[in-house]
Amino acid sequence: MHQKLPIEIDPFRLAKSGLILEGELPLKTMRRLSEMLHDDGGSVHVKMSFDVDKVLGTPYVNGEFITSLPLVCERCSEPMQYEVNVQCSLAMVSNERKIESLAEQYEPWVIDNDDPIILSSIIEDELILAIPLIPKHEHSCLPAEAWFAGEEIEEDVERKSSPFAVLSALKSKD
Ligand SMILES: [Zn+2]
Repeated sequence: MHQKLPIEIDPFRLAKSGLILEGELPLKTMRRLSEMLHDDGGSVHVKMSFDVDKVLGTPYVNGEFITSLPLVCERCSEPMQYEVNVQCSLAMVSNERKIESLAEQYEPWVIDNDDPIILSSIIEDELILAIPLIPKHEHSCLPAEAWFAGEEIEEDVERKSSPFAVLSALKSKD
């Protein structure tokens, strides 16, 4: 049995108490993420262990977010499941100037006001980062010719905006 995850958290207090949050978070509670999915009926398994770094005195959380995201393949436009297992260590800092002093195993989590933190927004950010820029099936879901034709078009667009094109345009002005 999983406990119910809180909607809002005070991460500094959780760290001080060394608490662990674990439970299931429905995908549909994360609106920005839902928009990237073709079906938001699933959930993500969440485990967040809060603590204070004994050496640095920095409050942090070790997060583990496991789910299978229903994405759409950019190559064939068919649904595909994308397995996600995010492991992250976020150190809480009260302003951006403190980021430099963090040990390198931590990502900075800047919390610069007293507003309550929406738990799902942290998880949502990490999941969105884990989604590939161009999701596509691992197997070749379309015949190679169809896919290569697509790539050639992309190359053309790139050539038009290349720095050399800009340079020659400048030169011709002289
Ligand atoms: Zn595909």
